[in-house]
Amino acid sequence: MADVIVRVTSTDPRSPLARLVTLPLGLDVWELTQDEAVLQADEAQAARLEAMGYGVEQLQTSESYVADFDTARTAAGYHSAGSLEQELRHLADDHPEIAQLQRIGRSIEGRPILALRIGERRRSARRVAFLGCHHAREWISVEVPFLLAKDLLADASTAPVRDWLQQGEVWVVPMVNPDGHEHTRTPGNRLWRKNRRRNRDGTIGVDLNRNYGYMWGTLDVTTSSHTPADDTYVGPRAFSEPESRAVRDLVARQLFGGVLTYHSYSQLILYPWGYTSGPIPDEADRREMRDLADDMQRLIAGVHGETYTAQQSSQLYPTAGDTTDWTYGEYDVPSFTVELRPASVLAGGFILPSDQIQPCWEENRPAAHAFIRHVLEKPER
Ligand SMILES: [Zn+2]
Repeated sequence: MADVIVRVTSTDPRSPLARLVTLPLGLDVWELTQDEAVLQADEAQAARLEAMGYGVEQLQTSESYVADFDTARTAAGYHSAGSLEQELRHLADDHPEIAQLQRIGRSIEGRPILALRIGERRRSARRVAFLGCHHAREWISVEVPFLLAKDLLADASTAPVRDWLQQGEVWVVPMVNPDGHEHTRTPGNRLWRKNRRRNRDGTIGVDLNRNYGYMWGTLDVTTSSHTPADDTYVGPRAFSEPESRAVRDLVARQLFGGVLTYHSYSQLILYPWGYTSGPIPDEADRREMRDLADDMQRLIAGVHGETYTAQQSSQLYPTAGDTTDWTYGEYDVPSFTVELRPASVLAGGFILPSDQIQPCWEENRPAAHAFIRHVLEKPER
């Protein structure tokens, strides 16, 4: 059955667009607004949606989408797990006084999960973390945190970076899901999302960004699913996966004052909660994250004019067990998911042309710096 990418709309009040995520169809939802959804489905699922009263317009087959966007030119400039490890090692070797490469865990298939610690470690009570690539196909989410690390090290002897690295530490984990990322580099698998866990029913993969231990598993919807075959499978229990455990243990050891995790695509700045449409109850926390998100939105727009919309995570779609619900819910620290370029599937979706790596990094640089400054300079509570 061929997979297709479709735009779904609804004019029928009996099948509102918001109900789409509650359908047990195993849909792979790529975009969701009040007016339309873009999702990947097989032809039978698309026909069922149509029969339920949804407007279903086929944009492309998945195969032709990948063929159009995933060219040699597009792929050049992105890291593999191996080339990332090599470059992180060089960065650490070139800056031994302020950088250290650590293996924080191993993936299901045994690949190292690597973190680069950057800071002078004089009195390093303040620490901030940037994560990338929970989802295999989101290649740009490796490059932005990697370029952040590289840039911080290049600027380490000048203000304000020098002061940050004297005050505290910046930790960067650019590739949480190396197995999945490697899988997307093999023919026919460019749109793989999950890790490479062999599930009990023979299907493959757990969604690492649904496997964290705060309100884990409390939803069973198409964007946060208990069906192992689904793209958003939450796993058999919280932290069932070595990749999410590696992040859990790092956070438990380092007690970061803030965590920002990169994903793609859609150009959004998301803050908790994902598991409920209710807002964060603590008003000061809510204001802190809302203000920071607005600042980041403004800073990003100021570089190349791109809009990254700031909103509560559940306003995109419901998710239980994501990284930021856990870091905020468990550790009470400001936590963000930044969905990087592009804005839509028409501009490439998950397959961002590599000539956009640099501008995407450029626009995210001041927002990342604002987050570092906020966390490292925040008064003690
Ligand atoms: Zn993602």
